Amino acid sequence: MKVLVVGGAGYIGSHMVKQLRNAGHEPVVLDDLSNGHADAVLGAKLIVGNCGAPDVLEPLFRSQKIDCVMHFAGLIQVEESVREPAKYYNNNVCAMMTLLDAMLRHGVKELVFSSTAAVYGQAGSTPLDESSPISPINPYGRSKWFMEQVLQDYESAYGLRTISLRYFNAAGADPDGELGERHEPETHLIPLILRVASGRQDAIQVFGRDYPTPDGTCIRDYIHISDLCNAHLAALESLRSGAKGSAYNLGNGKGFSVAQIIEAAKSVTGRPIQVIERDRRAGDPAILVANADRARAELGWSPRFPDIEDIISHAWNWERTGL
Ligand code: UDP
Repeated sequence: MKVLVVGGAGYIGSHMVKQLRNAGHEPVVLDDLSNGHADAVLGAKLIVGNCGAPDVLEPLFRSQKIDCVMHFAGLIQVEESVREPAKYYNNNVCAMMTLLDAMLRHGVKELVFSSTAAVYGQAGSTPLDESSPISPINPYGRSKWFMEQVLQDYESAYGLRTISLRYFNAAGADPDGELGERHEPETHLIPLILRVASGRQDAIQVFGRDYPTPDGTCIRDYIHISDLCNAHLAALESLRSGAKGSAYNLGNGKGFSVAQIIEAAKSVTGRPIQVIERDRRAGDPAILVANADRARAELGWSPRFPDIEDIISHAWNWERTGL
């Protein structure tokens, strides 16, 4: 299938392009390179432009016979979304609405959408399933939830068929070492810890020691980037086989605190990791852990790299050799 990968030069999108090719599909990338890197697009056509620009979308859809779209072009920093909500609503909602208009105009009716665990907001220690209450606590989570609802309405009214994948914490790197995480500035926990391990950064800041968790630091469910991308392939198959639109959690069902991730990184790298304690970061919920049974049952998905050591070790390989 010819798959338009919007945001295909970014962290998740670039891994997706590689896995689409390996699965025999033909990815075409649309990316404005605001956060992505042209050299991360391996073996696919790259069209440089913003998915909110009709003058970019029109010729693209006219010239390429796109079967399906995957959207990875969202802004993703929780704390930034609290400071600059306009940026988040303009990009994650308005630009995407323009993309949807173009899809519908050109009869492209299948979409795999990158949603997030942040739609759930504050959660207890029980893993979240898709029927858990939706109540985002930051603009980032709200922007994604708006879009999920738009997509449901578009399914009823226009026959657009969408699978929304609610990512927990995407992490790790390509097991072959060809691709990895290259956010600038980097804000994510695992790559920042590994910068400390490799000596590129002096210390890791721990945002909050007073959360209602056993060690006081936030708990997240880290999922390997390659497993996340495999779930998109499964979602594509599901849409192709006529399944109704739906939302699926993607995580391993196991939570690790910030302090536990630092310990795991010390053990994987064998290096010391200096810590600085800071206040809480705005917008961060205490705990987010997935129950991904629905994705396993309905998409036939299962993670190949559920162990945190593998996730950290692939990211460490990239930190040392890939950048
Ligand atoms: N975090 C931290 N120090 C950092 C970066 C992140 O303590 O330098 C914490 C953050 O507060 C959150 C967890 O690590 O509790 C995961 O944050 P990340 O930004 O990686 O992903 P998010 O959960 O925000 O999507």
